[in-house]
Amino acid sequence: MTANNNMVKKDDTTLEKIVSLCKRRGFVYPSSEIYGGLAAIYDYGHYGTLLKNNIRDSWLKNMIQMRDDIVGLDSAIFMHPKTWVASGHVGGFNDPQIDCKACKNRFRADHLLKNYGIEADKATLEEINNNLIKLREQKKLKCPNCGSTNLTDAKIFSLMVKSNIGSPTDEFTEENVVYLRPETCGGIYLEYKNTVDSLHKKLPFGIAQVGKAFRNEIVARQFIFRTREFEQMEMQYFLRPSMMKEKYEMWKEIRWNWYLANGITADKIKWYKHEKLAHYATDAYDILYDFKSLGGFDEVEGIHARGNWDLTQHSKFSGVDLSYTDEITGDKFIPHIMETSVGLNRLLLMFLDFAYTEEAVKDEIRIVMKFPKHLAPIKIAIFPLLRNKPELVKKAKELYSELVKNYMCEFDDNGNIGKRYRRQDEIGTPYCVTVDFETLEDGQVTVRDRDTMEQVRIKTSDLENFFKDKFSA
Ligand code: ATP
Repeated sequence: MTANNNMVKKDDTTLEKIVSLCKRRGFVYPSSEIYGGLAAIYDYGHYGTLLKNNIRDSWLKNMIQMRDDIVGLDSAIFMHPKTWVASGHVGGFNDPQIDCKACKNRFRADHLLKNYGIEADKATLEEINNNLIKLREQKKLKCPNCGSTNLTDAKIFSLMVKSNIGSPTDEFTEENVVYLRPETCGGIYLEYKNTVDSLHKKLPFGIAQVGKAFRNEIVARQFIFRTREFEQMEMQYFLRPSMMKEKYEMWKEIRWNWYLANGITADKIKWYKHEKLAHYATDAYDILYDFKSLGGFDEVEGIHARGNWDLTQHSKFSGVDLSYTDEITGDKFIPHIMETSVGLNRLLLMFLDFAYTEEAVKDEIRIVMKFPKHLAPIKIAIFPLLRNKPELVKKAKELYSELVKNYMCEFDDNGNIGKRYRRQDEIGTPYCVTVDFETLEDGQVTVRDRDTMEQVRIKTSDLENFFKDKFSA
């Protein structure tokens, strides 16, 4: 749940600039645009896909490659419908919705109340409506979009997305509904037993997965911050209850450090401690990032101590014993769980927001995406100075074929060099290599640095070592 209200003081200009750059340069497109679009669903273009994959890989490396206590999983999006009854989602995964009768915009009532300094995270519908009545009486309640006072009462809106997969009929009835998972961790709980049985993992251990999740969100315009189809990266750590305090602190530190290791500065993130907890939870913290495009701090990741609620519920509803037998004492118990849960698309927005930079260069504004080098979609762009000089094109293509073996590269011969630099700056390419006439004489190329714009001459035979150095730094 968020600690900041995006609807209050959004800096639309920065958000609009990022949205426009994303479309112009092939990071993110509105889905189904030729049909008028589909609200809160987006497609990822070439650079968006590469950037997203790099963020995902950094998470997977940190979670799986670097740890011998965590294993991977790729569970299905469709799961037995009972899963979501057991988890409480069918009965209670709702948000309070409020509509403006004048402009027809729809809002989350808890977000709207935050505009008035009222914390309504996990409040009941009755509490929310009582607050709305008070604001109405004080003549304060207004639509954040058009200013109208003609707003509905709050009502409950289920976030679960339904399908009829495998059903003999195309009608939706309670008996034939299969849900698209609203979070990926459900699959982890259901594969806990198979994981223990097949991989012989001992407590404490974790299962991590990256995958799609679906929520019928009531959205205000927030680009890819909150979408109806999104990817989550979740890790569930199974442990003895006595280990919870220590491991919870350990994971808070690990996750905090992941942001720093990926270039986010400490002043841009902070902790938010949940005061109101789910009945089974013992601790819940979020990491908030200070989005310049959304007007302030908002949630990117949740770190939650969930007790043994999940496995207990699935044991009860499935009738399968999900308890763990202690290898030394022989004690049987249901493991407790702490989770780290982060949205991949939301992280992508965080990195776009962090990287987006405007700099005055002579009389112009240079837009440059200062992604950390290891996350940049393209690492090196290679240009022939002129596209109509075959000897330059040949040499540049040779270089490209060599460098592409180790780096995601791009060959670019469109427009003049200035235009190519501008395009590469906007997609965040750390280095551009230009082959010119002198290259043919002295075997040297010009390497231009994205951040400093400095240009150095390097021998083509030294390029491999040069980039090895730069990308390992
Ligand atoms: P919120 O209060 O913002 O609705 P939440 O607290 O319900 O979010 P969780 O269920 O804890 O979120 O989800 C974990 C993470 O998954 C969030 O921190 C966020 O990064 C991501 N996430 C959740 N919902 C969405 C969404 N609709 N679009 C994109 N990312 C999402």
